[in-house]
Amino acid sequence: MPPRQAIFGGTFDPPHAGHVAAAIHAREQLDVDLFHIVVANDPWQKSAERVVTPARHRLVMAQLAFRDIDGMAVSDLEIRRGGPTYTIDTVAELEKPGTETLLVMGPAAANGVSTWHRAAELAECVRLAVVQPRGAPPVHVEGWRTETVLMEPVEASATLVRELLTRRAHQEIPPQAVQLVPPAVMSYIVEHRLYSP
Ligand code: ATP
Repeated sequence: MPPRQAIFGGTFDPPHAGHVAAAIHAREQLDVDLFHIVVANDPWQKSAERVVTPARHRLVMAQLAFRDIDGMAVSDLEIRRGGPTYTIDTVAELEKPGTETLLVMGPAAANGVSTWHRAAELAECVRLAVVQPRGAPPVHVEGWRTETVLMEPVEASATLVRELLTRRAHQEIPPQAVQLVPPAVMSYIVEHRLYSP
């Protein structure tokens, strides 16, 4: 089998327990030599809909979320490149001859991958590694080579964390949010007054 590298891209606004669990399971099951966590600069499909936290904060939060996990490198490559984030450009930068590239993502992201910039070209140069709950039918995305990573479901989303924090009464952090976000990330959120009510 050729050497393989994984790219786990996201907005990470903020990073949460679901991201961490997905990355750990993917690293364990995919047999990759390199595992890149890549923080989007401008996730154009999301930033059209809502205000996204500045990339510099999301980068630090991702570094804090993944700092104690072996074998993962948090990358600022999309932030350094600037502008709207297109995964095809990231793959072009990280690609190495003879190495297979896998894009790690959840089922919702996988179902939307054909709407990404230059999707047909992207489908030719990567495989998808779809992280999904055990027991669920495997996700197949037409036109893409797909592998499955199995995990116990983690009921977390960045949307839920943002909602819990922005809707909180006074400045108290809701216990549910504390459970969803790594402690170092929560300290950073508090210190920098992100997602304030
Ligand atoms: P939002 O709620 O703001 O849309 P998100 O929680 O989906 O954000 P992203 O940074 O957009 O977070 O996601 C990065 C990747 O992590 C995506 O491929 C997404 O499908 C995956 N992911 C997000 N939450 C989970 C989860 N709980 N379990 C597994 N994968 C997840």
